[in-house]
Formats: sequence, structure tokens, C-alpha cells
Amino acid sequence: MSTPFSNLINRVAVIRKTRRNHAFEHATAHVLARKVRALRVSGVSSPFGFVLLHNGTAEQGEQAAQEALEALKGGKKQLAIHPDCGTNLVTTGVLATLVGWIFLGGRRANPRNLHRALLGMIAAIYAGYPLGMKVQEHVTTDGEVGEMEIASLRTDTVNLPMWKRKFKVLWVRTQKA
Ligand SMILES: [Zn+2]
Repeated sequence: MSTPFSNLINRVAVIRKTRRNHAFEHATAHVLARKVRALRVSGVSSPFGFVLLHNGTAEQGEQAAQEALEALKGGKKQLAIHPDCGTNLVTTGVLATLVGWIFLGGRRANPRNLHRALLGMIAAIYAGYPLGMKVQEHVTTDGEVGEMEIASLRTDTVNLPMWKRKFKVLWVRTQKA
């Protein structure tokens, strides 16, 4: 979303590129979820692009990436936000820690304070999810991807013995982000 804060942090190229690639990664996961039943997906973004681990086929993953970028450029910015993003987890963890620290900090850790701190941390965990979605929207992703385009797409197959199945690794490099 274009806000003064977003415009400010986007002046740093490495941040802007990472935010746009992260939005692209989320959009690809959303599109892939429509193609693959019981999709399992996990991704990570960088200034250069993103990597998506998934249990679809190579074609499904690569098509999803192409369609996702088209959709973002067509204005479907809601695709940039993903409920399973690590941002939500980190936001929740930071908030709960902060609340616990505030309730306990500087006071003697008597049972009453501990009780209040735990209640506060539970409340923080509930608040963390919607807050995390906002942090995604305003900080860790940018659904307005500008002129960004796909520079290359590649899919590898990996065996994950602990999960007893094969996964695809989709490598997407972007340019003009
Ligand atoms: Zn994410």
C-alpha cells in the first residue's frame, strides 16, 4: 500500500525489492492453493526473488508465479497478504514478550504479577494475528510491484526423508523491482 511510511522505506532499494518479492511470494502461494489440493507451501524472499517449497508439480508452481504477478499488476493487492506468513508469528512473539516484560519488569515477581503477565501475554497472542496482518500490509510486503518482472523461473525436486515425500523447489528471480 502506498503510504508516506511505505514510500520512505521504499527509497532503500534492498528493502523495496524484498517487500515486492515477498508480496509476489505470497501471491504465488495464494494462486497455487487454487491449483493444488491439500497444498503444503513454505517460502522465503530476498532482494533477488523468492524460493517456494511446495507439493504441486513444477508446471503448477511456475504457472502460479506467472499468474500471480499478472494479478498483482492488475491491482489484486490483497494477494500480497498471507495468513501463514512468518511476519504474524514474529509480531505475536514480539508483542507477547513486550507485554510480559512490561507486566513483570521492575516489579518483584510475586504470583499476582505473574498471573497478570500471563493474562496479558494471552491477550497479546490474540491481538498478534490481526496486527501481524497489518505489519505485512504496511512493512514487510508491497503489493504495488511497479515494473517488476520475472527474470527466471526454475524448479528442482527435493527428497525430504523426514516427511517421506518429494517436494518441488520453485526458484524465482525478479528484475526491475
Ligand atoms: Zn511471508
